[in-house]
Amino acid sequence: MSLGNLFFADTLCSQNFQGYIEGGCRTAKIAAAKIIRSNGLK
Ligand SMILES: Cc1cc2nc3c(=O)[nH]c(=O)nc-3n(C[C@H](O)[C@H](O)[C@H](O)COP(=O)(O)OP(=O)(O)OC[C@H]3O[C@@H](n4cnc5c(N)ncnc54)[C@H](O)[C@@H]3O)c2cc1C
Repeated sequence: MSLGNLFFADTLCSQNFQGYIEGGCRTAKIAAAKIIRSNGLK
């Protein structure tokens, strides 16, 4: 989930694992990948 160059990641951003650590980890991984891509690093 993102708004411009502001990226959100936490358990509440997760559709399938909301309320669990898994949700936080998965959305963090997605956000990190987007940040890397948006900075032209990959
Ligand atoms: C008692 C308890 C037991 C749990 N047991 C389990 C379990 O067994 N398995 C499981 O999968 N899940 C469990 N959970 C749920 C799990 O802890 C959460 O789903 C998970 O930690 C959410 O991660 P998050 O990164 O979204 O948020 P958080 O872990 O809440 O992280 C948010 C971070 O942001 C920081 N923060 C807040 N406001 C600001 C600010 N203004 N500036 C800077 N930093 C800020 C907070 O200090 C915090 O470190 C449990 C939760 C509780 C309360």
